[in-house]
Amino acid sequence: MGCVDLHLHTTASDGVKSPSEIVRYAKSKGLQAISITDHDTIGGLEEGLAEGERIGFEVISGIEISAEHSPGSMHLLGYLIDIHHPSLNEKLKYLQRAREERNPRMVEKLNKLGVHITYEEVVKASGGGQVGRPHFAQVLIEKGYVRNFQEAFDRYLKKGASAYVDKLRFTPKEAIHLINEAGGVAVLGHPNTLGLNGAKVLENLIAKLLKEGLRGIEVYYPEHSPSEVIRYKALAERHGLILTGGTDYHGIEKESVDVGVGRGEMKLPYSMVEALKAARDLAIQSI
Ligand SMILES: [Zn+2]
Ligand SMILES: [Zn+2]
Repeated sequence: MGCVDLHLHTTASDGVKSPSEIVRYAKSKGLQAISITDHDTIGGLEEGLAEGERIGFEVISGIEISAEHSPGSMHLLGYLIDIHHPSLNEKLKYLQRAREERNPRMVEKLNKLGVHITYEEVVKASGGGQVGRPHFAQVLIEKGYVRNFQEAFDRYLKKGASAYVDKLRFTPKEAIHLINEAGGVAVLGHPNTLGLNGAKVLENLIAKLLKEGLRGIEVYYPEHSPSEVIRYKALAERHGLILTGGTDYHGIEKESVDVGVGRGEMKLPYSMVEALKAARDLAIQSI
């Protein structure tokens, strides 16, 4: 049995390789299966799944949903989702539309503060890619409203600053329900970004998410220290949760993380995929 990688990004979100490229690359690395888990989108799955079928390589559907959480960030992975599920498609579209409105709203806020920039200028600064706050900062600097990036973020753009508009996110409950509704298996991604210190807080969060239908924890992850892996593994086992893992590969070379192996330390067994499938089948039976 070969190895797997259950956390990969493509050009459908912020990855460098197209879905087809990543599937072929994973096969060339000798893996047995992968999941494509782009941020808040299933836009790369149709292509990825088709390429897998074409070259005889197992690709399972996936998504990585950002959920409301503080102080850190919570990412929920959804595996084996039905990519044609109507409500999944509808809700993801709604999320995307809300995000598209975010940048123009930030321009409006800046204008009200007497900062005269246009959305066209910000789009131009992005060079045609995805528009983000760094592009706002660039325009603010060019037009002499601030001296540097730091000042742009501190005065206007950082969370809580005068022109900041929050990104729309699902609550953890909504994200888990959405995944389950689409026939998938919900897994808490890389718990080390939650920003929760102390075992008790994490334990309580897991207990809460469990009630909503969480069924796994991403225990193996390049940014998890060996002691975190031990901790998360014990946590998953205590709650009867599936252990998963993945590299979060984006294809950005300087990250020095590669598909399947991370920084060389990872070796994720195919039994992870089997456990996810078993969890999905169990949920189908219980309907
Ligand atoms: Zn993530
Ligand atoms: Zn990711």
